[in-house]
Amino acid sequence: MSPARIGLFGGTFDPVHYGHLRPAIELAEHYALDVLYLLPSHQPVHRGPTGASSSQRIDMLQMAVADVERLEVDTREALRGGSTYTIDTLEAMREEFPNATLLFFLGMDSFAGFDGWRRWQDILSIANLVVIDRPGALMSDFSTDLMEQQKKRFGVERIERIDVTQLEISATAIRQAAAAGHSLRFLLPEPVRQYIEEHQLYRRMPS
Ligand code: ATP
Repeated sequence: MSPARIGLFGGTFDPVHYGHLRPAIELAEHYALDVLYLLPSHQPVHRGPTGASSSQRIDMLQMAVADVERLEVDTREALRGGSTYTIDTLEAMREEFPNATLLFFLGMDSFAGFDGWRRWQDILSIANLVVIDRPGALMSDFSTDLMEQQKKRFGVERIERIDVTQLEISATAIRQAAAAGHSLRFLLPEPVRQYIEEHQLYRRMPS
């Protein structure tokens, strides 16, 4: 049966960590999702090269959700190559699942720059946006205005803000810890930690 309620959680996942995973499971439960796809990007358009390759980031994500019901990895962006845009993925999803409710999740820090996303208005007409609070990330003026505007425009909440368990973990801090030779224990799933060690990832200090 085709899923009726689909969530998408995009990111670089360089590497995936509990700051992504705990909110993801809470969101899947809260919104009664049939599936929540973690959607690793290829080379993000707004930042430098990733520390791990696309296939390594996919490997780590797949390990992280291997025994977790309803969490899956969508590899289309990571494997497509070149710049990837959320709107293209959402349009493809909409075509694949014409009747499904689509929810797109993003952290408050990402939402603050949402007006820089390609065709962001179209994103709102395809999916409901759910903004996850993140420690230290504040609402920008744009975010506040957009939330107000969309209420008027759609008459319903197309952008929602949700409070999930907030873990002050970032991939940047993990890469820095790895480069400094510090332990990564309890920041991410153990198989992912071992993978990083085995593949000697993030040995150089990120720029
Ligand atoms: P980096 O430090 O490399 O920027 P990151 O830890 O922010 O990485 P991303 O892969 O860029 O992770 O994030 C994917 C999505 O998850 C983004 O929407 C981001 O806002 C959100 N996110 C990341 N970490 C957290 C966290 N600890 N709590 C809530 N949301 C998070």
